[in-house]
Amino acid sequence: MTPANQCPVPAAHKRLMDCHAMWHSLANSYMQPDTFRMHLNSLIQGLRNVTFVLQKQKRELPHFETWYTEFQEQARHSPLMRWSVNSRNRIVKESDLELHSEAKIRWVADWLTKGERNFTFPPRMASREMLGAIFSDPGNPRVGIVTLSRRWVDKALPDYEILHATREVYIALGRLLTTAHEACRVESCTFETREPPCVTSRLTRDPLRCMEINPGALQEHIDLNAGAGIQEIIRPIPRDEKATQKARKRYGITELGKGDAMELTPKIMQAARTVLVRDKKHANFAWFLRGDDILDVMSPMYADQNAKYLTFHRLADRVETLRADGFIYLAETWYVTDHKYDENGKLMPARDRGRDRMEALQVFGATRDGRHITLTAPFSRNRFGKVVFGETLTDSDMDDMNYFGSFGPIIERWKAMDARGED
Ligand SMILES: [Zn+2]
Ligand SMILES: [Zn+2]
Repeated sequence: MTPANQCPVPAAHKRLMDCHAMWHSLANSYMQPDTFRMHLNSLIQGLRNVTFVLQKQKRELPHFETWYTEFQEQARHSPLMRWSVNSRNRIVKESDLELHSEAKIRWVADWLTKGERNFTFPPRMASREMLGAIFSDPGNPRVGIVTLSRRWVDKALPDYEILHATREVYIALGRLLTTAHEACRVESCTFETREPPCVTSRLTRDPLRCMEINPGALQEHIDLNAGAGIQEIIRPIPRDEKATQKARKRYGITELGKGDAMELTPKIMQAARTVLVRDKKHANFAWFLRGDDILDVMSPMYADQNAKYLTFHRLADRVETLRADGFIYLAETWYVTDHKYDENGKLMPARDRGRDRMEALQVFGATRDGRHITLTAPFSRNRFGKVVFGETLTDSDMDDMNYFGSFGPIIERWKAMDARGED
């Protein structure tokens, strides 16, 4: 038996760490075609080497045949794993992969009525020409927001962007080595941390959140109504335990406790009501969960409706990178009790309804397996400015699906992840 804390498969484990570091080098050279090709060639070979060196140790590893055969069986059925093996053979024996750079445009005119549409263009086309090609069609009004991203794909795997594809292979190998360590009853082993510092010996079955597959730096956003770009600014705030304690005391709220998105949503509403009464206002918040674990919290701010559409697509990007399976969103919003239509017969959003709209606090929770809940707490302010809450309403009390509609990009993203078999 291998003693605890000693790696049973040091060669394979170090190769996996190499792959982690190489993946970041690949991501960092995205806009330099030759450097990108060079790092991709190394990474593809590095990924293959993990299984090669693991197989060399097979006689020393308990139940190797059982768990390794299971891995091979899964890999045989995975187009990504087959691509990875074929690519390595190609690079070693023949030539480079046939990489193509594409420009992808996502257009969101008004998602309640139109949804998102995607276009792909050859790389050398200027942004202006691409927009011209889309909007010269009279059926495509020049409204809403477009996001332009340039991406690398291999001819042999046209549906996957390269960072995404190689990350999936890395995840599969990370799971394989986790299984190998479990088979040897080794919970953790230590190797020197490397560059970048996220390259540690920690093994996990979850995707690493540092492997960002939708980086903002590779996207360009244009507001078509304003005819101007939208700049995204992300300000990371490290969790501060002292400040958290202080805030809990100020608002008189307790820890949220454990639970998935559906279980935490009512608790968040409870806490948010307390905060609103105390502060008279509440910021927007988004929680990303995987099972009962909160992976990340964001406080999105946007200047107008188009920026809001964009924000929800960027939150969906984050869901994909973190592989979150639960999502909660909290916002102050306008609330109406009936439907009114404008002169064109279009449903009027509550925000445009003038005096008959009310303020409300809304919390939406959803899970990847298809459950969702919307809690709405209408409130008014008395003449001293004090917030007075009405009863909290659940989905079943309301026929208003507009709020749910805002989360379309996240629900769609989960469906795409399901279709690709990403768990
Ligand atoms: Zn190890
Ligand atoms: Zn990393």
